[in-house]
Amino acid sequence: MSYEMDEGARRKVDSSFSGKRVLGIECPLRNNTGVVCKECDRARKLWRMGTESSQQEARDRFAKPTYFANVVLKDNGNHAILKLGKKVSADILDELEQTKGPAFKFADPEEGRWVSINKKGTRPSFEYRFRLTDDVAPTIDKSEVDNLNNLNNVTFDFNEGNIDLFDISSLESGQSLIFRLLPTPTGSGKYKLLQVVHYHWRCNEADILGGEDPDDMEKPIELQDGSDFEEFMTVDETEEEEEEEEDFLKNRPPSQFQPDEAESVACFGNY
Ligand SMILES: [Zn+2]
Repeated sequence: MSYEMDEGARRKVDSSFSGKRVLGIECPLRNNTGVVCKECDRARKLWRMGTESSQQEARDRFAKPTYFANVVLKDNGNHAILKLGKKVSADILDELEQTKGPAFKFADPEEGRWVSINKKGTRPSFEYRFRLTDDVAPTIDKSEVDNLNNLNNVTFDFNEGNIDLFDISSLESGQSLIFRLLPTPTGSGKYKLLQVVHYHWRCNEADILGGEDPDDMEKPIELQDGSDFEEFMTVDETEEEEEEEEDFLKNRPPSQFQPDEAESVACFGNY
């Protein structure tokens, strides 16, 4: 059996419902690629049923964000696309806000630094700790950065075998990954730091536009005011967050790597 066949078989298992998935099923609503998502409908119905178990199932079914970044691995100097969860991505963006320097700070190709993520704890509550080191990383050519994958089709590219992903959760507890982040080109000379994709993890591709009709499910109860349903469904940023972002964008020194403000959701902390 050839390596390619092994690889193909592995990917097939990864994308089946029963096996451990590397990537979930993209949510058209949360990713702004469509206006219908039956899985979101199912999750909302379950949430509104209002029982502990239906709400737990709703939590499992709602789309959740996964983040991707172009990185260079310190131990072999290779480029990689790193797959990260929400919390450690938030920690990276927090650190970015607190650090002085050009737009991409420690991810700047000319002034970048090595960073690390350390995996701790035991299943099911692993923790990923992000740390900015004092080690300056070597300068990287702008042309090299401009040739990086733009991460716009990361799910398709992975499923087609066009790219490999380094999944941070593949570290053993106690292990660290040392790497540098790079800006990802978005076209017309702009860059982003992270690409966010919202995935459902409890359904198949066919369940997004079809599958069990949410209207056939038990009748939901009305939501009460102040329900933490908002936690899942609110995608609008608050005014305060918008102001913070504006201040942050104003206070940076010039750089040839300009952030793409249309991509600010993943660039600068409005996650
Ligand atoms: Zn959805």
